[in-house]
Amino acid sequence: RDAENHPLVVEDLRKTFGGITAVDGASFSVAEGSLTGLIGPNGAGKSTTFNCITGVHTPTSGSVTFRGNDITGMAPHEIAQQGLVRTFQIARELPDMTVLENMMLAPKGQSGERLSYSLLPGLRDQVVAQEEELLDRAWQQLEFFEIDHLAEEYAGTLSGGQRKLLEMARALMTDPDMVLLDEPLAGVNPTLEEKLLDRIHELREMGNTFLFVEHDMDVIMDNCEHVIVMHQGKVLAEGTPEQVTSDDRVVEAYLGG
Ligand code: ADP
Ligand code: MG
Repeated sequence: RDAENHPLVVEDLRKTFGGITAVDGASFSVAEGSLTGLIGPNGAGKSTTFNCITGVHTPTSGSVTFRGNDITGMAPHEIAQQGLVRTFQIARELPDMTVLENMMLAPKGQSGERLSYSLLPGLRDQVVAQEEELLDRAWQQLEFFEIDHLAEEYAGTLSGGQRKLLEMARALMTDPDMVLLDEPLAGVNPTLEEKLLDRIHELREMGNTFLFVEHDMDVIMDNCEHVIVMHQGKVLAEGTPEQVTSDDRVVEAYLGG
């Protein structure tokens, strides 16, 4: 595979939990600037694959390479620093904090230890300037996803769809160049769904790459140029949406569960 045009390369990835094999030797790569779909029946290993790629889980074996760097087993914040982030199937906002506070938490949670700037007077100004820059970025993202009017609301009061928008906005705080989206449209009403998809295409035109787990085949058909199908922890098929949906093995995997 051409690493130059495929920023993410996953090779022979395996992840076991005790006796359960969640990912069983999956290999695939994602093309630069693409919106690639990752589909497969429930339990196929899609979320675990995302967890292994982004450092939430350490793979049992296999490798993950991003822009030519081996990121296998790195911590999530280290991987985020390289420009690769993900959203979670279940959005992870803190309900007792405001939307804006949640936005400000995202990059700090990823940047590691706190600085003890009391020792260095000049450093304090630097930290304040950084904080202001983050605040600017947070507002930009909230405006981009049209949830800036909710900035002062507690995240716990948001609708399911608004939570998904917040989850996306948070993921973009570190200015990543590739985003893994785990069912970003689940529980989102059709109006917000269209808004989210529009934003994804807009970001793509600006050069972002997306790997996208989605159950709705119509959404995959309409939005992805390439689809990877997982089944029982392995890649069963890949190709255009038309190719994979007319593949007998894929049809059988879905019917057979
Ligand atoms: P998908 O996202 O495709 O629905 P998952 O990656 O969530 O699939 O799950 C794949 C398999 O791994 C399932 O059988 C699931 O029960 C199992 N699994 C996932 N995470 C864990 C875990 N933390 N501990 C034990 N089993 C897990
Ligand atoms: Mg899942």
